[in-house]
Amino acid sequence: MARVEISQLEKSYDDSEVVRGIDIDIPDGEFVVLVGPSGCGKSTLLRMIAGLESVTDGEIRIGDTVVNDIAAKDRDIAMVFQNYALYPHMTVAENMSFALKLKGEAKPAIEQAVKRASSILGLDALLARYPKQLSGGQRQRVAMGRAIVRDPKVFLFDEPLSNLDAKLRVQMRSEIKELHQRLKTTTIYVTHDQIEAMTMADRIVVMQGGIVEQVGAPLELYDKPANVFVATFIGSPSMNLYSGTAEAGDGGLVMRTQEDVVMPLPSGRSDLAGRRIVYGIRPEDIVVGAGPGVVASISTIEPTGAETLLLCKVGSVNTVVVSRERVRLGPGDDISLIFPIERLHLFDEATGRRI
Ligand code: ADP
Ligand code: MG
Repeated sequence: MARVEISQLEKSYDDSEVVRGIDIDIPDGEFVVLVGPSGCGKSTLLRMIAGLESVTDGEIRIGDTVVNDIAAKDRDIAMVFQNYALYPHMTVAENMSFALKLKGEAKPAIEQAVKRASSILGLDALLARYPKQLSGGQRQRVAMGRAIVRDPKVFLFDEPLSNLDAKLRVQMRSEIKELHQRLKTTTIYVTHDQIEAMTMADRIVVMQGGIVEQVGAPLELYDKPANVFVATFIGSPSMNLYSGTAEAGDGGLVMRTQEDVVMPLPSGRSDLAGRRIVYGIRPEDIVVGAGPGVVASISTIEPTGAETLLLCKVGSVNTVVVSRERVRLGPGDDISLIFPIERLHLFDEATGRRI
């Protein structure tokens, strides 16, 4: 177990900077998820922590040691990848014990470590099988077993569930979370899937273009996204956004869009008057119907069972509403949308920052 500190970390390939000055401090035992769109530098960052990529600038510390110049095999970390990379000619037990054999550990110690990992992961009945005799989920479990037997200071995961089908992904993500609750080993987990990030993380690091956009607990990011990028990246369906100018209206402060749609603003925000802002509201926070609100025209209705998605337009802006009610509405119908003032998210249009 160990704390991991990343300071001012940079990585360039030739003249392209792919990690641009990252600071993250991960306390011992925490489960941190790095999330962001494809190409934002997540794997590069993780591979630098693992020692599989050199560091261009900055520092990585594991425990009390700066590991920049320490070889991967001497960092006492274990990594699990998307393609499990099991040895096809070895049984499950051999796959799990291989790293310990290489390290020259004694046979009884190896057997004990494999036994412990296999019982944690429910692999006892599969120890004599070969990888080709396993399902995708079982292979993923063996890959985790290989990491567990090493009893590392830090677990690193790079999109380990991407090759599994949707149902198995959901199951494996709770297994990994449960595993962390048992072992309490510091874990850094990379995914592009914000639902995975939200459901698994103690803290989420949202990345874009080689920088950190925001770090926080899942619900902190959901409730108070620091900028428009995080606001739209976290939460599904994405937050609805409208641009306009804040102004004093008859009944208080409002925002007026270019298409003359008027939306209510909190009365305490007279500081915003005259400013160009982005107005955000989550699909699940919009209330349909009762009373005067913002007029929207329905384009499509998507029932999912538990809830119904109303895809509509406010002026020309696409707007998604999630309703728990069963709606008797159809394409072309006009509805009135209420945006509860306490659920609004406001951002500066020029900087994208929360205001
Ligand atoms: P992510 O894991 O977030 O999808 P990566 O860390 O794999 O992103 O990649 C970040 C950026 O670095 C991408 O633009 C990618 O093309 C670039 N990159 C990754 N590895 C190399 C490499 N070996 N040489 C040059 N560019 C690379
Ligand atoms: Mg990647």
